[in-house]
Amino acid sequence: MTRLFGTNGIRGVVNEDMNCDLALGIGKAWGTFLKKSINRPRVAIGTDARLSNYMLKNAVSAGLLSAGCDVVDVGLVPTPTLQYTVKERDFDSGVIITASHNPPQFNGIKGVASDGTEFSKDVEEDIEKIYFEKKFNLVGWRDVGFFSTWNGSIDLYIKGILKAVDVELIKSKHFHVVLDCGNGAGSLVTPRLLKELGCKVTELYCEPDGTFPGRNSEPLPENLTELIKTVPMINADVGVAQDGDADRAIFIDEKGNYIWGDKTLALGAKYATKNRDGGIAVTPVTTSSMFDDVVKENGGEVIRTKVGSPIVARVMIEKKAVFGGEENGGLIFPEMQYCRDSAMAIAKILEIMAKENKTLSELINEIPQYEVYKTKMPCPHEKKEIVMKTLAEQTKKNSDVLKIDETDGVKLYLKNGWVLMRPSGTEPIFRVYSESKDKNTAENIALTYKKIVEDIINNT
Ligand code: MG
Repeated sequence: MTRLFGTNGIRGVVNEDMNCDLALGIGKAWGTFLKKSINRPRVAIGTDARLSNYMLKNAVSAGLLSAGCDVVDVGLVPTPTLQYTVKERDFDSGVIITASHNPPQFNGIKGVASDGTEFSKDVEEDIEKIYFEKKFNLVGWRDVGFFSTWNGSIDLYIKGILKAVDVELIKSKHFHVVLDCGNGAGSLVTPRLLKELGCKVTELYCEPDGTFPGRNSEPLPENLTELIKTVPMINADVGVAQDGDADRAIFIDEKGNYIWGDKTLALGAKYATKNRDGGIAVTPVTTSSMFDDVVKENGGEVIRTKVGSPIVARVMIEKKAVFGGEENGGLIFPEMQYCRDSAMAIAKILEIMAKENKTLSELINEIPQYEVYKTKMPCPHEKKEIVMKTLAEQTKKNSDVLKIDETDGVKLYLKNGWVLMRPSGTEPIFRVYSESKDKNTAENIALTYKKIVEDIINNT
């Protein structure tokens, strides 16, 4: 079956593959799915700042209403704000219309479960099945859903964050923060939150605008030149940038250094476990070993999962983890909610800076350093499974391999680092990542195993 849902919901170019017909059909299928177990489902719907939001929100809502769901429109909100609203206000499901960091011509539909987590793959597959088989269960005229609006979502969310951090401690430091919302949904939340935390805020692109006039929505170093320049120029304490739907945050230290997400993730893990004398921290197999180092130093334990934030969140719930996340700047704090949450990450990083009485660069310098090397090669979809199997069998015999992890792809722990070989879920390619304390070693490991994978692909 064609898969509509990718790693982050359904995405596409507006009025090409992402159009009202698709959105209406998804709304009907979603409603049909919910009605199977709930008599009168209540669904919250929100959007980021894109120009096509009104069109897609109304189409999805119409589908849900026709299947007998009540729909509450919470307006323009960050993805984590919608997720928090679903959890706190006891909705049965949530819909966010967003294409996250993608360019403005894109938009998407993402599903939220009743506990505020992203939809699991099973739920997505059930909805897809109903959609493709057109087995919509539309209700009679008396049972069509009610539609209403609610504008309390952002207040609820900001209050939630303020309850989860030490506000007085952060306030006492009078931090100066340069905030770059990239004209995304964070514009409506983060400036307010920072002011509540007693910060002086210098705003860059904090007006929601779906054409993204300020910068490209993906918080990569090349898109954050203004922020990187501004922080040291005005002697601010920290800079922070959010992606389009504000689930991810990237930090800039007081010297203007771009901090990659793996370091921020490790920093979050370090202080989550330090404050609790250990505990479980969860992250995918792809994350750097710096995560393990800091957690183990505090007597904690690391659980590695398949790639994907919904999987990380679910394992965190199951294992009662104290922290989790992905190295793209998506940090998950269970004291707030089980999803990537950039505003919460910002509040927490300020709390850590305040508690430790250290600058961000000092805190980051204490995180162990590793070198990463990433490469890829073509591999047809139909060969991926057999290549993985052969790879696992062949490498098990290799005496250099200390441990093999087949959680997602094949990860080999070697005496001087690790290598992960993993097929892409969507593209006809195979990726090889390696990590070591030393740059040349990381490169050598990756290239050695790239050759092994290529040989297997060619001989399969
Ligand atoms: Mg995002």
